[in-house]
Amino acid sequence: MRVVARINVAAIERNVALLQDRVGRGTAVCAVVKADGYGHGAVPAARAAVSGGATWLAVVTAGEATALRRGGIDARLLVLGPLDDEDLSEALDARAEVVVWDDEGVDRLLRAGRPADVHVKLDSGMGRLGQRDPAVALGLCDRIATTAPLRLSGAMTHFATADDPDDELFPLQLSRFTAWGEDVRRRHPGVVLHAANSAATLREPAAHFDLVRPGIAVYGMDPMNRDPDDHGLEPALEWIARLSSVKPLEPGESVGYGRRYVADRPTRIGTVQAGYADGVRRAPVDPGEVLVGGRRVPIAGRVSMDSIGVDLGPDAAEAPGATVVLVGRDGDERITAEDVARRLGTINYEVTCAIGPRVPREHHRDGVPVPASGQDDARS
Ligand SMILES: *Cc1c(COP(=O)(O)O)cnc(C)c1O
Repeated sequence: MRVVARINVAAIERNVALLQDRVGRGTAVCAVVKADGYGHGAVPAARAAVSGGATWLAVVTAGEATALRRGGIDARLLVLGPLDDEDLSEALDARAEVVVWDDEGVDRLLRAGRPADVHVKLDSGMGRLGQRDPAVALGLCDRIATTAPLRLSGAMTHFATADDPDDELFPLQLSRFTAWGEDVRRRHPGVVLHAANSAATLREPAAHFDLVRPGIAVYGMDPMNRDPDDHGLEPALEWIARLSSVKPLEPGESVGYGRRYVADRPTRIGTVQAGYADGVRRAPVDPGEVLVGGRRVPIAGRVSMDSIGVDLGPDAAEAPGATVVLVGRDGDERITAEDVARRLGTINYEVTCAIGPRVPREHHRDGVPVPASGQDDARS
């Protein structure tokens, strides 16, 4: 093993069960598994989310929908992103529900000429996809509901600042969507109203409606980029490498490209086979730390494409083969995706999404390996 991402599917199950518990019986959970399940592997993440109680899944692209169906996932599936004719036909082949926000979107569906379950998206303040004018959005609902072979399935919005308790856009978006949702519901009683991402799910019961769409929390990460423990969430992913060599360094000798790390004392330097091609970011001036033998040790010098150096210290006893934790626990120490994100000036989402395709994903259930196909269990 060179470097690996180990994903505990039982943690995903527990996180989804916790979210379901938070929202109560009247609200369904749609687990967002876009971007290969935020780097955790879309099919195993989807399967675990369904075991944990999710009855819907969401992705962004038609290709992601196809991949889930090929993986044997049977749940209700929503494609959130915009779709051209070709993508739309792929999404419908995958029995996915789709989102529209203008007449062109409805026209495209009619051109496809096939039955489709459609959600109308209101832009209540995010300022990207969605229909800004609630009256126009209501008209779209009416048009879809009365135009065979289309069916009006849902009415939705997306929050821009649910992760920021001090921002006043969130309550404004919520009140706009609530008012519009009431109008939609009056005319189309069966429609599923949904708005909440992870932050809104955890923070605001009034945002739960019929369905919540958590992503980051499903994987046990904190939507506020603080400590997942605060919400009882359990990080599902560990990112592990190994020492491939250990050797002494004398004062004045350097490590890596550009001599960015020069020893000021005799020390021992470990080389770890994980670099920026694997998702260890090179940009920051302070490259940060990893865990070795339950100790925090600094990354020494520039991150290379395939490797990093770590300063193990003069008294280090570790030999090649020792475990190096990039994200996860080792003894009493832990490095969370949130810790890495803060150092990089980004968010936890980007940390796990950036773990490269060269890093194998190994799935386990509380330590018991789950076969790659994973078809043995949870195919309820
Ligand atoms: C990604 C996404 C979500 C999930 O957001 P999290 O912050 O990860 O919970 C929900 N809804 C839409 C439309 C999204 O694109």
